[in-house]
Amino acid sequence: MKIYNTLTRKKEEFVPLEPGKVNIYLCGPTAYNYFHIGNARTFLFFDIVRNYFKYRGFQVTYVQNITDVDDKLIDQSIKEKIPVSDIAEKYINAFFEDTNSLGIPKADYYPHATKYIEEMVRLIKELEEKGYAYEVNGDVYFSINADKKYGILSGKKIEDLKAGARVEKNIQKKHPGDFTLWKRSKPGEPKWQSPWGEGRPGWHTECVVMSRKLLGETFDIHGGGIDLIFPHHENEIAQAQASTGSIHARYWMHGGYLNISGEKMSKSLDNFFLTRDVLKKYDAEAIRFFFLSKHYRSSIDYNEDLIKESSQAMKNLYSILKELDYLKYEDEDISYAETHQKLKDQFIEAMDDDFNTAKAISVLFEIAKITRSSNDMNFAHLLVELGQVLGFFTNLEEKLETDLNQISEELIQLLINYRQLFKKEQNWRMADKIRNDLKSLGIQLKDTPAGTEWEIVK
Ligand code: AMP
Ligand code: ZN
Repeated sequence: MKIYNTLTRKKEEFVPLEPGKVNIYLCGPTAYNYFHIGNARTFLFFDIVRNYFKYRGFQVTYVQNITDVDDKLIDQSIKEKIPVSDIAEKYINAFFEDTNSLGIPKADYYPHATKYIEEMVRLIKELEEKGYAYEVNGDVYFSINADKKYGILSGKKIEDLKAGARVEKNIQKKHPGDFTLWKRSKPGEPKWQSPWGEGRPGWHTECVVMSRKLLGETFDIHGGGIDLIFPHHENEIAQAQASTGSIHARYWMHGGYLNISGEKMSKSLDNFFLTRDVLKKYDAEAIRFFFLSKHYRSSIDYNEDLIKESSQAMKNLYSILKELDYLKYEDEDISYAETHQKLKDQFIEAMDDDFNTAKAISVLFEIAKITRSSNDMNFAHLLVELGQVLGFFTNLEEKLETDLNQISEELIQLLINYRQLFKKEQNWRMADKIRNDLKSLGIQLKDTPAGTEWEIVK
């Protein structure tokens, strides 16, 4: 199995620290708002990484942290006029609702940063004692000049680091690239006791402490989106090396961006769609399909036409299973012959090659094609088995038995199309009648530049 390791900038054979086991840590959400569909891409992909390791027989421990104290939460608490802890609670709940709607099973651990403050203070103290950290006015910084290997992950050179967009400007610091380990709290901000006075830990310290605590000083895989390579993961490595000499994680995996018109989707650029809003329009499996049909390291442009095509592609797969009356034969014994095995091997080969989900999906379609032409139940079983590795077909009963729901949706769409025709003919009376009649059934139409959308408002 090969994985692209950001640390060495090449695909490497995956060798677990302990045979048969894999420990994965993913940098999760900062709980200050609902997460957008770009974040969802990263969460979905690492769900597949976990799933695939399980499929290959590994015992997986999967940790996704939750940042529940941070400048962004403090800003949001001022905006919403509720305490920081309530902001965290509100958006952590929303995070679980949305990941559940996306069909992502729970991680094994969701450490909350505020539950590990004592350990964080201990680590910062240790770094200070070893000469890697210094205090100025109640703030503590990591001195990157003290770290000979600084830049090992991102390839950045200390001398090139100037205060800029991603490196905070601060005249207290010895070097503009020095990063905050402990931040003195301003009046009214969340605070904890420390040898440097009341304050809170920096984000980069949180993840080192939580991953070490739950997965050990060195563990297998550390993941996130590419925006985390620098400074977040670089700074995690700096602290881990300064503390124990360990590189922290052996494999560093980073997923590409979801872009929008060529720019990274992000809250700060205000060019985002919330996952929960996208899920009102498209099925979770269609979104999953849309992401997985591209390699995780390439960037993807948000494209609703492609999501619609993905939705159609999924419908086609389901219709094959429906025609075969799959549920009736679901528990039948499977006997894979050589032709089945060959396709299964192709799927595994694709996934073994740095999680090439795009290729794996093309194998699924090859299997679907043969299933349709041969009516061989074993191919149908294989389709489901491998599809489930990618997180599809997890709710077969519901999908294969909700004909009526699907027909209702298609009928609403049909009425929308008729209304469109009436509008074209300037028959406003009929167009309005359709809108009002649907409304009285609790179906609200909304005209947008992209077409007419509907939602159930009852
Ligand atoms: P945050 O809530 O900002 O801590 O981000 C949570 C995760 O989403 C991190 O792993 C980020 O790298 C990732 N992420 C943020 N924006 C995007 C994007 N536009 N595309 C893909 N992943 C993203
Ligand atoms: Zn992190």
